[in-house]
Amino acid sequence: QHMTTAQIRQSFLDFFASNQHQVVPSSSLIPGNDATLLFTNAGMVQFKDVFLGAEKRPYTRAASSQRCVRAGGKHNDLENVGYTARHHTFFEMLGNFSFGDYFKRDAISLAWNFLTTVLQLPAEKLLVTVYHEDDEAFDIWNKEIGLPADKIIRISTSDNFWSMGDTGPCGPCSEIFFDHGDHIWGGPPGSPEEDGDRFIEIWNLVFMQFNRHADGSMEPLPKQSVDTGMGLERISAIMQGVHSNYEIDLFQGLINATAKVTNATDLEDKSLRVVADHIRSCAFLVADGVMPSNEGRGYVLRRIVRRAVRHGNKLGATEPFFYKLVAALVEQMGEAYPELVKQQAIIEKVLRIEEEQFGKTLDRGLAILEENLSSLEGSVIPGELVFKLYDTYGFPADLTADVARERFLSIDERGFQEHMEAQRRKAQQAGKFGADYNELLKSDKSTDFKGYEAEHFTGTVV
Ligand code: ATP
Ligand code: MG
Ligand code: MG
Ligand code: MG
Repeated sequence: QHMTTAQIRQSFLDFFASNQHQVVPSSSLIPGNDATLLFTNAGMVQFKDVFLGAEKRPYTRAASSQRCVRAGGKHNDLENVGYTARHHTFFEMLGNFSFGDYFKRDAISLAWNFLTTVLQLPAEKLLVTVYHEDDEAFDIWNKEIGLPADKIIRISTSDNFWSMGDTGPCGPCSEIFFDHGDHIWGGPPGSPEEDGDRFIEIWNLVFMQFNRHADGSMEPLPKQSVDTGMGLERISAIMQGVHSNYEIDLFQGLINATAKVTNATDLEDKSLRVVADHIRSCAFLVADGVMPSNEGRGYVLRRIVRRAVRHGNKLGATEPFFYKLVAALVEQMGEAYPELVKQQAIIEKVLRIEEEQFGKTLDRGLAILEENLSSLEGSVIPGELVFKLYDTYGFPADLTADVARERFLSIDERGFQEHMEAQRRKAQQAGKFGADYNELLKSDKSTDFKGYEAEHFTGTVV
């Protein structure tokens, strides 16, 4: 049956509440308990200490719809936006969690019941993966759920083995996929064509089974736990009978609004999807307290805003447009996220100022880029030009790479880095003649972010 995105979110939470789960509100996009993590990128983030046993809660089962951002850091889907049917920079992850309560058997049957009984998805369109050594999960799917063996794929890669870090909790995963039909290119998980969008992963069930020690040995956890995550937009697409997440109710609202404020006429234009995606991450990041800046989280936000502005410009916008989409977003998501409504005016102001600032140099920078592209030999944009666009016109390197990709070109990332490094050295030399406390503070702060590539946060325009 057809369900709206809001109805699906609610029915998920209701289902797990009726199975003795405590419904917990989404936490901020800025992880409160983990300085090594750039953004909240999964539902389990707010429960990390509970899983580790360092924090006690009055419940052992929980469910949530968690706002997530995957742009930068270990999970970076920024480059996928506009190219796949299933990735966003911002999305909502529906999750149910067991803290030493139920394990594989209940996790699998709860997920299966929700999909096939509550949502009434046809079982024959679903297939699952298990970790290749996890006979226990295989048998539950096969003998208890009754899924035929050829619908249960054993995977030996890290895709199906989760770990929190090099040491600590880890364990096998079982993922549920939906087959959107053979008119769409792609193969089942584990096949060479799995990157296509025919078989779309909808739900990841993580079984926290072991504790891994520094020497690599694994010991069963005293209290085995479950962490699951299902993309709300992906399950909405299925329920609404469409293939791409960008065709669901929520995104259609945003895409129509984007077309209106940019004067775009072709509703299929991929830039509309990019802008509609980016307004969600940018608005929610500002709502959670991130401000555009030249380093760390703020630079990720700035990069996303600038990408959106460039795509809006391509669609035909002639004046600041991005901030105008906050109203459309509030219309789509304000009910589920009252904080968005409360902060609407601030978000609009921050995004408007950021766009106005960049708007001043965008046209000039694009003109320089065009000029250089017309005489480009080969298919790689030289690092020197990428650096000049960055340094003089405020083009983050990934923005130039985004333009390049549209023309089947790439950027010389190494060359760009070399110019960045040279600039850094110059700045340091200058710094020797007087302490630059701003600079010191910056490098202190940047060490907070492990796994977040250096080029992105040291990008201070000198
Ligand atoms: P994929 O392989 O499609 O990139 P994933 O394996 O990286 O997904 P998980 O880390 O397992 O995703 O996250 C759990 C669920 O969250 C996924 O099964 C999917 O439904 C959803 N999800 C993950 N990344 C995104 C994204 N960028 N946009 C929308 N939904 C996502
Ligand atoms: Mg992924
Ligand atoms: Mg995956
Ligand atoms: Mg997964």
